[in-house]
Amino acid sequence: MKVFKFGGASVKDAAGVKNILRVLQHTGFKDTLIVVSAMGKTTNALEQVVHYFFENKEQFLKNIEMVRENHHRIIGDLFEVENAEITQKVNALFDTVIGFLNTTDSVEYSLVYDQVVSVGELISSIIISHYMNNQGVENYWLDARECIKTDAYFRDANLCWTDTEAAIQEAVIGRSTFISQGFIGSASNGLTTTLGREGSDYSAAIFAYALGAHSVTIWKDVPGVLNGDPRKFSDTVLLHQISYREAIELAFYGASVIHPKTIQPLQRKEIPLYVKSFENPYDLGTAVSKGKTLDPEVPCYIVKNDQTLLKLSSKDFSFILEENISEIFALLHQYQMRVEMIQSSAISFSICIYNKYSKLESLLEALKMKFKVKVNDGVSLYTIRHFDKPAINFIKNAVGEILLEQRTLNTAQFVVREKA
Ligand code: ADP
Ligand code: ASP
Ligand code: MG
Repeated sequence: MKVFKFGGASVKDAAGVKNILRVLQHTGFKDTLIVVSAMGKTTNALEQVVHYFFENKEQFLKNIEMVRENHHRIIGDLFEVENAEITQKVNALFDTVIGFLNTTDSVEYSLVYDQVVSVGELISSIIISHYMNNQGVENYWLDARECIKTDAYFRDANLCWTDTEAAIQEAVIGRSTFISQGFIGSASNGLTTTLGREGSDYSAAIFAYALGAHSVTIWKDVPGVLNGDPRKFSDTVLLHQISYREAIELAFYGASVIHPKTIQPLQRKEIPLYVKSFENPYDLGTAVSKGKTLDPEVPCYIVKNDQTLLKLSSKDFSFILEENISEIFALLHQYQMRVEMIQSSAISFSICIYNKYSKLESLLEALKMKFKVKVNDGVSLYTIRHFDKPAINFIKNAVGEILLEQRTLNTAQFVVREKA
């Protein structure tokens, strides 16, 4: 089997879906499991629905109807004659979500989030599966919730590998081409879970691992993995080959073209990952596989925006020692902060964090009981893998004020207040 993943950008409209057909006609689709994301910005729109459900009940219905309309428009553009079956299936899914929201008494934001936001992938995969069947790409629609088994840690669920492997292996028996969903799974209590934003790449890797697939291809709106995000850097270079280890590092530091959890399962079974352009499927793209660390050997640039830099010092001018550090980390964990970089000196301890769950205010309150805290909000973290002198100079000249700098053998990092 091979596994393909088409992300939100590739299925943002009817033209995108038609383009997938073109890609599949080029690659062939026998023994292929295709994972798709929600269409375009649907996940963001559904996040808004959840937000309004908790904040302003009148607005949530209006918002969900907007998402429904958008999908009906795409269906209208894809199917020449009105297709009652698909219209009915899509409406049924929306009605289920609305029914859930109207009747649930859950106050658990993350639980509600997963039941609502997951509908984006379900609808997208149903539309695409129908369209492909109509166009001669005979396929079976596979409900990922029957395959991807997780715990009930909503919004960032952890995989139950053994159950998942068994479920996937059983699901594919006797069929050849599958269309399923990225991002979603289910917990043993029957509720839908999600794997974290941008988690569809990870879903593709999970399917591939369970199937012992011979490859995974993620189709993107870029030629492959470049040595920097083309939206942020000009003159980027295509990386032809990256080792698993290097890809893990790049994703970890924030190269958002691959979800960080994707590589490890593939590495375990040495399944190659190809990152290719859905616009130019004939091009080779990037191979992540056993072999050279990086080809070509060039510095790679990664930027993470919306970071917060905290500088902690003790109130009585004493040193920050192990006991304080363990206390600080306990609080960071408690308030679900993602720690991106740390640096300690004799009297201060600096931490660059990402305030993923909007709990910064509470964290600061807790920290300020014990420490003097200096806060630099809205800063950016620049990382250069395989840096050299020109790369460092390039970043230093390009960015604004550098607040913190750190270098290891292969990686240089800068916390920066961007130029206004
Ligand atoms: P999808 O969700 O459609 O699968 P993403 O938007 O998650 O795709 O990933 C593709 C985007 O990743 C590109 O449009 C690009 O802006 C961004 N990106 C970030 N870092 C890199 C990089 N090093 N190489 C290529 N693209 C990158
Ligand atoms: N649709 C989800 C998101 O936008 C998952 C994904 O696209 O990978 O985060
Ligand atoms: Mg995405």
